[in-house]
Amino acid sequence: MANDMSATLEAPIADISQLAPHWARIRSRLHSEVGEMEYRNWLRQMTLSAVDGDEITVLLPTRFLCDWVRSRYGDRLNSMWSEENPAIRRVDIRVGGPAAPSTGLAVSLATTTEPQAVVTKLEERMDQRPDLTIDPRFTFDAFVVGKPNEFAYACARRVAEQPSSPGFNPLFLYGGVGLGKTHLMHAVAWELVGRANSGVARPVSVAYMSAEKFMYRFIAAIRSQSTMQFKEQLRSVDVLMIDDLQFLIGKDNTQEEFFHTFNALVDVGKQIVVSADKSPSDLSGLDDRLRTRLGYGMVADLHATTFELRISILEAKASRAGVAVPAKVLDFLAHKITGNVRELEGALNRLVAHANLFGRPITVETTQEVLHDLLKAHDKRVTIEEIQKRVAEHFAIRLTDMSSARRARSVARPRQVAMYLAKQLTSRSLPDIGRRFGNRDHTTVMHAVSRVGDLMNRDAAFAEDVELLRRLLES
Ligand code: ADP
Ligand code: MG
Repeated sequence: MANDMSATLEAPIADISQLAPHWARIRSRLHSEVGEMEYRNWLRQMTLSAVDGDEITVLLPTRFLCDWVRSRYGDRLNSMWSEENPAIRRVDIRVGGPAAPSTGLAVSLATTTEPQAVVTKLEERMDQRPDLTIDPRFTFDAFVVGKPNEFAYACARRVAEQPSSPGFNPLFLYGGVGLGKTHLMHAVAWELVGRANSGVARPVSVAYMSAEKFMYRFIAAIRSQSTMQFKEQLRSVDVLMIDDLQFLIGKDNTQEEFFHTFNALVDVGKQIVVSADKSPSDLSGLDDRLRTRLGYGMVADLHATTFELRISILEAKASRAGVAVPAKVLDFLAHKITGNVRELEGALNRLVAHANLFGRPITVETTQEVLHDLLKAHDKRVTIEEIQKRVAEHFAIRLTDMSSARRARSVARPRQVAMYLAKQLTSRSLPDIGRRFGNRDHTTVMHAVSRVGDLMNRDAAFAEDVELLRRLLES
């Protein structure tokens, strides 16, 4: 027996068919562990596809199933495999398989199966251009997750996986412009459709519209005396999403109508997802009853981007576009384009288009050239004086200490922060910045910039402080 074991350990597995008995046992063990329903929903479609050294590959037909199985059963599969066959050390769970559209939701929608028809049925009536209603680029897959948005992302995912869960209804997403609210809402819609299409969930009808569109439709319904129809249409959906709710402020009749629709749906356990630019409590002018109800479920905010998130987003978008952008350029962009994700995307798109057009490699110099106007607009907004003033106020030190020789930590640190921000937010050179901070040397500025960067990486609270200052200065 002992010999057999070591033989299994040593001998490389030549052929996947050798593993068939192990795989069958693992499947049946999983089946009895998780129960019939779970197994049928998530695991039945797994296929064993390849073995490579100590790694095997398990395929699932959709991205969604794949993510699900990886996150919930990945560890279990790993441990079962190593128990079954110690030669296997890793299980790679991937999208693929004969029956499967491997590119995910876009494909499953293009094949116009029944659930999609359910989704668009309502949209066709609500919106004559259903193709423009839900953006196929806005999937969970394409959403880059980082500290500022991970909570909102998790909530959106949860709603897509399990609509109308207690505690998540309504889901209220809020945050500044261009931070991904609409993206997340569309992703929820795609996921719901994708799950229905792959058979893991029952079909649901989803209606998504901006608050403005809600208002137009409502007013049009009043004009054509079809408000009953309008109400019925809305109340027949399983998931209602209203984007940019702030547009309803001051539109009392429309708000009232939305409030009733909202109640009618929530009362029968339907899911509502709402987005706005502020939290319910900060949306002044909103009907108090509506505000209260909006706060009953989950309220999740999308924070301003951090440097790290901007880098991840740029990397993801560049790789999606299939363009090699040097790390230095990504770094430069993430430092200079600090507004929202839309601006960041716009800058990258321009850069990529330019590179394709002229066949020139992308460098920091070409970037500065191509984005000249954009970078200048950014620079113009902030002066070193403003930065010093804001930072001094924030840390409650005297403005004169920005240029004084005092070296106590309580003034030296804010001064370093101001230098750091001056470097990030203006196009001034290091010597120039040094001069404006009491004739300091450019190496002092350089030191401050790297010191603050380090601290931001290590201390989340400090990083948030600095980001806050940056936002204040840029707004
Ligand atoms: P909002 O609705 O909050 O104004 P959007 O959802 O329209 O913002 O996002 C603006 C753009 O930025 C969209 O193209 C979106 O795909 C992109 N975007 C925003 N956040 C992310 C993210 N975390 N990862 C990838 N793309 C993002
Ligand atoms: Mg939006």
